[in-house]
Amino acid sequence: MIDKHNRNINYLRVSITDRCNLRCIYCMPKEGISFIGHQDILSYEEILRIVKIAIKAGIVKVRVTGGEPLVRRGVIDFLTRLKTIEGLHDISLTTNGILLEALAEEIYDAGIRRINISLDSLVEEKYRDITRVGNLRMVLRGIEKARSVGFSPIKINVVAIRGFNDEEIVDFAKLTLNNPYQVRFIEYMPIGTPALDNSLGYLSGDAVKEKINNFRSLMPVLKKPGEADGPARIYKMEGALGEIGLISSMSHEFCESCNRLRLTADGHLKACLLSDGESDLKGPLRAECSDSELEELIRKAILDKPRMHLMNCHEIQRKKCVRSMSSIGG
Ligand code: SAM
Ligand code: SF4
Repeated sequence: MIDKHNRNINYLRVSITDRCNLRCIYCMPKEGISFIGHQDILSYEEILRIVKIAIKAGIVKVRVTGGEPLVRRGVIDFLTRLKTIEGLHDISLTTNGILLEALAEEIYDAGIRRINISLDSLVEEKYRDITRVGNLRMVLRGIEKARSVGFSPIKINVVAIRGFNDEEIVDFAKLTLNNPYQVRFIEYMPIGTPALDNSLGYLSGDAVKEKINNFRSLMPVLKKPGEADGPARIYKMEGALGEIGLISSMSHEFCESCNRLRLTADGHLKACLLSDGESDLKGPLRAECSDSELEELIRKAILDKPRMHLMNCHEIQRKKCVRSMSSIGG
């Protein structure tokens, strides 16, 4: 469906849980987190109903995310059922990779082929520092397993953080030389109540690009129509098997190519990640509204999608978005 600003809104990100087996410092507080109560989390049945109706409003792509989607019980069965829904051209999954070695085969057998794995450091202690509890080797084994099982594309999401992993940007880029991965550098966004201390912070996509260019020239990759990667700018180093993506949510005009909606784990539809506006679908759903009423709510959310978010790197301290990334679904 085309919104008021001529964008084709066809991509839905579905957060199936706000819980996680990690505590990344930019995403979740260390403790005192108030998780959504079990009663308030959408059931798989409810999510599947919303997806079917969203397809009528023009959605053709779904990404399953969280929190950490692989910690929710029954996720494989859910993915299998999602895959059978007619009209979905593309289903993908975002995970922190901790449980991937164990589950990669089952996820693949459920019919999922596209996977994004988040990894912010290639140094064991740093990885533990940023995730507070994570084990780097588990993620690396998960990525290896995903590759051997046959996932393609495999995208590695790196949140670029000044003072933390800026010295590793080139090491991450080097991963693309001999592996068919797309390494994507994401600008840190001031969402929820992140706990980055003052010595760490925002690093722009352009600064990341410059660091890589100093190592080896980056050439833009032009995608065919339909293959475009949403707001990511895609590059390749000469001779590399893989690609490099820059997702400059804060520094670049990003909104005009934004094609997404997000369904939160507690059943709210967010048309813009960086604005607090959302529409409640769970209430009407549980009050037994009809499919056409639900479709109307989804269409209205698309029509009301803001033209652009109001944050940029100069306003980074304003922390406009109240929900954390783990409950919205990154
Ligand atoms: N747990 C899964 C994972 O980490 O891949 C899926 C959910 S996580 C919220 C999705 C993505 O959002 C991850 O790549 C994570 O790095 C990113 N993310 C979380 N908080 C962020 C923030 N404040 N700024 C930028 N990216 C963020
Ligand atoms: Fe968990 Fe993903 Fe948030 Fe890290 S970024 S705390 S892995 S939801």
